[in-house]
Amino acid sequence: MTITSSDNNIGLYVHVPFCLRKCRYCDFLSFECRDDRALHQYANALMREIETRYEEWPYKVVDTVYIGGGTPSILSETDMKHIMECITDNFTVVDGSEITIEVNPATIDEKKLETYLAAGINRISIGTQSFDNSILNMLGRVHNKNDALNAIRLAKKAGFKNINVDMMFGIPGQTLKMWRDSLRQCIFLRPEHISLYSLQIEEGTPFYQMMEKGTIDPVSENVDRTMYHDALDMLENAGYHHYEISNAALPGFESRHNLKYWSYKEYLGMGLGASSFIGGYRFKNTSSMLEYVNFIKQGLPPVKKEDVENYSLRDEMGIYVFTALRKREGFDIRDFEETFGTDFFYVYDPMLITKLRGLIKMDGFVMKLTDKGLDVSNQVMAEFV
Ligand code: SF4
Repeated sequence: MTITSSDNNIGLYVHVPFCLRKCRYCDFLSFECRDDRALHQYANALMREIETRYEEWPYKVVDTVYIGGGTPSILSETDMKHIMECITDNFTVVDGSEITIEVNPATIDEKKLETYLAAGINRISIGTQSFDNSILNMLGRVHNKNDALNAIRLAKKAGFKNINVDMMFGIPGQTLKMWRDSLRQCIFLRPEHISLYSLQIEEGTPFYQMMEKGTIDPVSENVDRTMYHDALDMLENAGYHHYEISNAALPGFESRHNLKYWSYKEYLGMGLGASSFIGGYRFKNTSSMLEYVNFIKQGLPPVKKEDVENYSLRDEMGIYVFTALRKREGFDIRDFEETFGTDFFYVYDPMLITKLRGLIKMDGFVMKLTDKGLDVSNQVMAEFV
């Protein structure tokens, strides 16, 4: 029997926490690793976890898979092929599922891309960030402009019909012109999806230390916002649909997996530090590799008791609104009411709409951010949590 996609299907997230080199701004859960044996051992542990997880949630049907990192393309093509086989041998993955892998331009070649496609991966997300070598150097990226161009060209040539390119702005040393030139180059290559990230300088990163020492100057809020709005104009003029604060796509290529996060849908995370929201629970895998491997050796899900979140119903309502407002189309408050069985304006003071006038708007039953609200989205969303 062919199982087709339904609204209740879940997304799987698979985390690969290794990179060739740590970027200067990165505070993600990822470690430098060039040891093929260690990478292979992690792939094996991940496959054991996939089997264990399936035993916990055997009745869940999957329609999106997202292999993220770190740099998943650092794994050998054989390991990635086996991971994909393990997913499809265990979980019911419906026909037409969206299956994404994140890649770094420095870690892919024709053979890998062909293996991904043959293994069922049909979407590729390329961590490009910029097409300017001075900016890539500043970020500490392991690839240069030519690697990025080559990665996109190779992905197209291999037959990928759904390509995302990550782009970053608000980088110390990046002028408005440099940003526009990079984005123009990106649009020219016509990937189906473009993600836009404003650089955040996080504590504990080399960038943070450089900022403390005064060796880099963060980009002003004003320039950062100009870069963002310029990008939105350029993307919309080029036919991209700005469907989420940081994401734009050619019509029909919106990320189905990421839309689950913004639409209060279930997802199951596997791999070091991966988060899940499933069966009414929110939990996070351990972020310690030693603990992770020990859990897996014992055939246990790699989650410590304290990493099972204990959110109240009111917290969940806040999460619903916080994430749903990220979508440009906003959300229908009747869906909120159906999900939680309560009146929206019983939970939230109707005066909030007046307080946030100009930042959010009501379109019938639909609540969404205005263009002005986009710039202070975190402040707006904080009012609902
Ligand atoms: S490639 Fe991505 S995950 Fe890896 S260090 Fe750079 S920003 Fe972090």
